Amino acid sequence: MQEPSTTGAVSSLHIAGVRTRFVKVPMRFPLGTSAATVTSAPLLLVDLQTQEGVIGRSYLFCYRDSGAKAIAAVLHEAIGLIQGHAVAPLQVAELLARRYALLGVAGLVRMALAALDIALWDALAVAAGMPLARLLGASAHPVPAYNSDGLGLMPARAAADEAVKLLEPGFRAVKLRLGHPEARTDLEVARAVRRAIGDDVVLMVDYNQALTVPEAVRRAHDLQELNIYWLEEQIHHSDLAGYAQIAQSLDTPVQIGENLDGPESVHRALAGNAADYLMLDAARIGGVSGWLRGAAIAAARNIPVSSHLFPEISVHLLAATPNAHWLEYVSWADAILQEPLAVRDGAIAPAERPGLGLEWSEKDVTRLLAD
Ligand SMILES: [Mg+2]
Repeated sequence: MQEPSTTGAVSSLHIAGVRTRFVKVPMRFPLGTSAATVTSAPLLLVDLQTQEGVIGRSYLFCYRDSGAKAIAAVLHEAIGLIQGHAVAPLQVAELLARRYALLGVAGLVRMALAALDIALWDALAVAAGMPLARLLGASAHPVPAYNSDGLGLMPARAAADEAVKLLEPGFRAVKLRLGHPEARTDLEVARAVRRAIGDDVVLMVDYNQALTVPEAVRRAHDLQELNIYWLEEQIHHSDLAGYAQIAQSLDTPVQIGENLDGPESVHRALAGNAADYLMLDAARIGGVSGWLRGAAIAAARNIPVSSHLFPEISVHLLAATPNAHWLEYVSWADAILQEPLAVRDGAIAPAERPGLGLEWSEKDVTRLLAD
């Protein structure tokens, strides 16, 4: 084993093994959406070991405990298939896509391979001694960010108070979840939030797939006076034709994409004119490698690209995305990181450390370990 290097001295790295840990992080702002109420975030922490001693890191939000366990199982098996292979994420992705073709590279398998891909890219950037954004050819510049903590389905007064609190760290944009059983509750809550934050703050709305096409159009018209920046995932994520219908009927831009599985699905969504904006999820799109392809497809159609979750990772990707739009910020990983992200003037910059800049706070990881 050589000493880990952050000076560019390691010319090639080889995959040795992986360590995964499952932690459950209590959320500062519990999140009640039209789909579920979440009070703690199940995160899977990934440390990819190389023969040369460089560690590549990534983490995933796994939605459910079973997700974290299943993803870890796939990841450990995948590492067994590529042990000794050069740290060359594009080739590794190709190789593993063939090995997992029959099981299907989608859902949990896609997420596991994405976590691996991100950790491989991180190892390369750590070895090169530069932030991932720079390794991808970009500068590590700040990206506009909105605070996506909290603001779940809640009464008008509580939502208004929480929205104001979410701006305190220095954000100028927040996202409100709607999709209450009654349309008039949506309107009441949105009005209260707009009144509380003022006209200059950017306000996005996410329905978490709660509505039907006609209801989505009706509720969008209700909100017209409130200057909503985008309306997100009104209907089931797979109904691309429904989204095309909605996008065509509305002046307010429609945002979808967090459930697009792999870069080829970006092409499918845009070919059907399903949305005005896209947000890519680094795990579902296929890690750094999948993001670069997905974002390029969107760029070819002039569609602005935002990110979904993993802000510490996504901020590097958006910095290297020419059609970059908004970074979705959540504080979930703060509890297990030595140096959480900081917002300045409504924007967040990639960490100026080698790689993604993910350094686990080991004592907090130990404290939050789940089985
Ligand atoms: Mg969403």
